[in-house]
Amino acid sequence: MLPCGTGAPLLTPPPLPGTMVHPMNDPGPVFHAPEAIHKAATLIRRASYLTAFTGAGISVESGIPPFRGEGGLWSRYDPRLLELDSFLAHPEKAWPVLKEIFYDHFGQARPNRAHQVLAAWEQRGLLKTLVTQNIDALHHAAGSRSVVEFHGNSRQLVCLGCGARVEARRDLLAELPPRCACGGLYKPDFVFFGEGIPAEAHRRSREAAARTDVMLVVGSTGEVYPAALVPRWASEAGATIIEINPGISEFTAAVSDLYLPLKAAEAFGLIEEEMRP
Ligand code: NAD
Repeated sequence: MLPCGTGAPLLTPPPLPGTMVHPMNDPGPVFHAPEAIHKAATLIRRASYLTAFTGAGISVESGIPPFRGEGGLWSRYDPRLLELDSFLAHPEKAWPVLKEIFYDHFGQARPNRAHQVLAAWEQRGLLKTLVTQNIDALHHAAGSRSVVEFHGNSRQLVCLGCGARVEARRDLLAELPPRCACGGLYKPDFVFFGEGIPAEAHRRSREAAARTDVMLVVGSTGEVYPAALVPRWASEAGATIIEINPGISEFTAAVSDLYLPLKAAEAFGLIEEEMRP
């Protein structure tokens, strides 16, 4: 069901023409889905350098919980699990939990309509670059190739001894903590708290933000830095920001030009339908 006319009042940003309706006697703008979807489809179709920035929310409908909020991972697990110092001090304690969350559970997840539509847009030459904070590899699984993994990914393991990168195969995770042939400890190849962002991912994200004229911002609270700078860089460079998130985020008031308070799979399904000739 669309939150048509009855969704939460959206106070920011200033509405674009035809996307927010101010009924008489109602002090706040009301989301009007058909008009907003039409506006988003038009902006996307006309974009010369369309990009997307995705967060944990895009994978919620694939069964992967976000970090924060109701049902989030941090309501069940200790966030210190992802602190580098704590991992290095006790890899034998950290690895069984990492395996449970990021390999046993994430491993079952399949891309949803939002991942699929983004991949289709890339194949049609519409979407140029996709920057994701996610480590679940669902954009790759959907067929996206021009993906910048800002926080790395869980598909690979990196040896802290010799630096070798290997696919996170089941057999490597049979005995924990997993070790390389050189004797070094394997760590999932995603960024832990206390680690730097991969330089190439940072560079490519800056480049995409500088070139884009329309950026989709999907399912991110905008609270994790420096990733949250990516839509801000794009906005500062003059891009139009379309945000898709059932709840408001740090981006909504600050940079979003068009805000669709919808779940990602639903929003992408509607936009794709609207774009059909
Ligand atoms: P977050 O966990 O802080 O917040 C999730 C956001 O998604 C919220 O704004 C929420 O309103 C929104 N959301 C919830 N359901 C949604 C839906 N169906 N469709 C669209 N949006 C929805 O996420 P974040 O801002 O990405 O930051 C968390 C950090 O944790 C990131 O660095 C990310 O890499 C990592 N993380 C990744 C995964 C993953 O790989 N799938 C999962 C959890 C956390």
